[in-house]
Amino acid sequence: MTKNFLPFAKPDIGPAEIEAANATMRTGWLSTGPKTKEFEQQFVRYLGGELEGVAVNSATAGLHLALEALGVGPGDEVITTTLTFTATAEVVRYLGADPVLVDVDPVTLNIDPERIRAAITPRTKAIMPVHYGGLACDMDTILAIAREHGLKVVEDAAHALPTTWKGQMVGQLQSDVTVFSFYANKTITTGEGGMAVTRNPEVAKRMRVMRLHGIDRDAFDRFTSKAPAWHYEVVAPGFKYNMTDIAAAIGVEQLARLPGFVQRRQYLAERYSQQLTGLPLVLPANAPAGDIHAWHLYVIRLTAEARLNRDQVIQALSDRGIGTSVHYAPLHRHPYWRDRYQLSPEMFPHADAAYQSMMSIPLFTAMADDDQDRVIAALHELLG
Ligand SMILES: *Cc1c(COP(=O)(O)O)cnc(C)c1O
Repeated sequence: MTKNFLPFAKPDIGPAEIEAANATMRTGWLSTGPKTKEFEQQFVRYLGGELEGVAVNSATAGLHLALEALGVGPGDEVITTTLTFTATAEVVRYLGADPVLVDVDPVTLNIDPERIRAAITPRTKAIMPVHYGGLACDMDTILAIAREHGLKVVEDAAHALPTTWKGQMVGQLQSDVTVFSFYANKTITTGEGGMAVTRNPEVAKRMRVMRLHGIDRDAFDRFTSKAPAWHYEVVAPGFKYNMTDIAAAIGVEQLARLPGFVQRRQYLAERYSQQLTGLPLVLPANAPAGDIHAWHLYVIRLTAEARLNRDQVIQALSDRGIGTSVHYAPLHRHPYWRDRYQLSPEMFPHADAAYQSMMSIPLFTAMADDDQDRVIAALHELLG
């Protein structure tokens, strides 16, 4: 690796986040408490309000809580995309249910609604769309299919802060629960963390209870309400998924910087799209006019005309001090999913073809225009 290796992603933590984390540690309240509440409230306000936010220690936890609260259990099927991180599907297995993986649209790389329709069986309980790279799925069609068949919808919005569909924020659509991730490389980060949002108070309540051991009220309320401090009741065998106030303090500051982050990501994505045209590449789809693409990822695909294959380009970029990643080796390529559900690449022609030609190139808010110029120059050198 060269001295100034450019990673494909890097968190953007400034003095405000460091001071906020320090200030929280000085208060002596480290676990879930006032900062977590503040973060939940501000997050929901950012999305436009009229929602409940449940902060958790990862999006994986949030997806698990969402499906649990919606009653997904053994024998149920949940339809999702093969082109996602394993967390999307693994939470279905946590509940003893089966994920049913389907192919993507070859242009957007989002789940193909017609494949969802074809995968519905009497066991289907829910659909989990993933807004791939930060571009919204066709939510009108997905929600219509769900209504028609009486299915729940949980959006995996790990890439989608902020993303809009027909002018509405992802998080405000008519799905049951939407889950965001604050993992280190996401559009905002708390180190590890996530947020589940819903407009259904019963679902929010169940997620809050199950977030903390199935206890009927959280530790903060226990120490501030009038009831005796020692008293609590366990109503279910819950989980340990609560967010710490240290993480929430970082989250509040990251959220305040999000408008600036969005601008920077849009600027960099547009610049890539302008300056990479003419190369043997499929560039990522834009959001429809008027909609926001979160640009969590900038995924390019080599066309058949490229003189190097994907692995060769990744190696050549690495030799030039430029990091890349691949999002994703689709789930049907991983031994667990492949063997458990007898999956093969021919069942997912679009996702599989995309996988073999794709790479995510550097895109993060703290990267300089000069950094980006290096990536653009290298791609022209290798492919032009
Ligand atoms: C990052 C990610 C997750 C998991 O998020 P965590 O906060 O790390 O649990 C889930 N789904 C997708 C699509 C992701 O990219």
